[in-house]
Amino acid sequence: MSSSKSRPSPFPHRRESSKAKTPQRGTKPRPDAVRSAALSNALEGRSSKLAAGGSFSRLRGDDGTMPPFVILKEGREKSLLRRHPWVFSGAIARVDGAPDNGATVAVCDAAGGFLAWAGYSAQSQITAKVWSWDANEKIDEEFFRKRIAQALAMRRDLKLSEHSNGMRLIHAESDGLPGLIVDQYGEVLVMQLGSASADRWRDACADILQDLCKPVCIYERSDSDTRALEGLEERSGILRGALPPEITVAEHGMKFAVDVAHGQKTGFYLDQRDNRALTGALARDKDVLNCFCYTGGFSLYALRNGAKSVLSIDASEEALQLARRNVELNELDAARAEWQCADVFAALRKLRDQNRKFDLIVLDPPKFAPTAAFAEKAARGYKDINLLGFKLLRPGGLLFTYSCSGGISDDLFQKIVAGAALDAQVDACIVHKLHAAADHPVLLSFPEGAYLKGLVLRVAG
Ligand code: SAH
Repeated sequence: MSSSKSRPSPFPHRRESSKAKTPQRGTKPRPDAVRSAALSNALEGRSSKLAAGGSFSRLRGDDGTMPPFVILKEGREKSLLRRHPWVFSGAIARVDGAPDNGATVAVCDAAGGFLAWAGYSAQSQITAKVWSWDANEKIDEEFFRKRIAQALAMRRDLKLSEHSNGMRLIHAESDGLPGLIVDQYGEVLVMQLGSASADRWRDACADILQDLCKPVCIYERSDSDTRALEGLEERSGILRGALPPEITVAEHGMKFAVDVAHGQKTGFYLDQRDNRALTGALARDKDVLNCFCYTGGFSLYALRNGAKSVLSIDASEEALQLARRNVELNELDAARAEWQCADVFAALRKLRDQNRKFDLIVLDPPKFAPTAAFAEKAARGYKDINLLGFKLLRPGGLLFTYSCSGGISDDLFQKIVAGAALDAQVDACIVHKLHAAADHPVLLSFPEGAYLKGLVLRVAG
């Protein structure tokens, strides 16, 4: 252990500031004292880096001005010390220096110890999202270039383009860029900005992506629900280049048409790529039911791999039109495919009443619980469809069931599904636990990144 002491700490704040500067319990530091302590602590962090041969930079801007500060309440720095990148409004004691929406702020603990550089969202409950833990880092165009290049290099290292020319290039917090999502569909990139601070760097990021990826088009789809919470307008349209007349993405040897302008999310559910392939691999000679099928992802894999029949249900007629187009694009046997535009909750009941049975069922619903506050209502929805799913399966049948709700944990999802099996009076075992594909990495200190959970269950034969 003693050798670790001589090494420079990658977490200078943990060692240096908290012990020496934390005031006695019950004593409240004066605001101006906190602010100047924040600056001097950050500068201490800098000098420790300097001693370790690190680069020289500063908290003060180039023009000598102090950055705005977000000062946390006492004890509320814990999650940041564990490198969780969100600062909730309830944790904040004071905001100094009147940052505008989207500005970069220095986040400090109650004693003025520097914690992180973060993007400020005046109206959101998540008031700041961390850009960097390094006091020396300057949040400028170079910073974004470096982070974007790192994200691209990671995907290259993982050889993800061997399976697909569609992939998530930047996965927000997990790629160190909160609020920024970039998906690639062949030669087209789609960018989604979900926070005020990411929004501010929109043009810089578009220029960097244009330079590093050379796409024919960068299209903006900043129309996620989170924008309203950030006080931002929805915005969609071309940022660079021109959209080709038809965009297709190749995935595990299949082709999918993607509508980046009007489709859901950024146009396609890239996160399910590997899970779709698994469904395909198990679909031969089976009667398949694909609920919430969107543009036919799971259905097409099942058709290609010799499923006997595939019934696909979605509430969106536009999605089903693209699904039919995808059958054509892949020259699959349309006679084995049936597409139904319906509400899945009602359609499953109808199928039950008709005494229809299937060998393989996919349930991939939209996000029922964006946050934990919606968990109870969402749980009822998940239980309902899973119960009906179990009832529609033949003995030995497989249920592929998913939740992409941030507000539902793995454990809770498994419990809901177990409750559904019990009520449906089937015995089932988990044969696979699934998650999003590797282009959606999950930062260890940010478990919220693991939003997609899937179970493959086999009911007793
Ligand atoms: N499995 C798909 C992605 C599913 S996304 C894939 O691999 O590409 C969820 C889908 O559920 C969307 O297409 C949406 O139109 C559909 N949807 C949402 N609520 C629905 C409902 N109540 N009934 C039927 N479809 C619904």
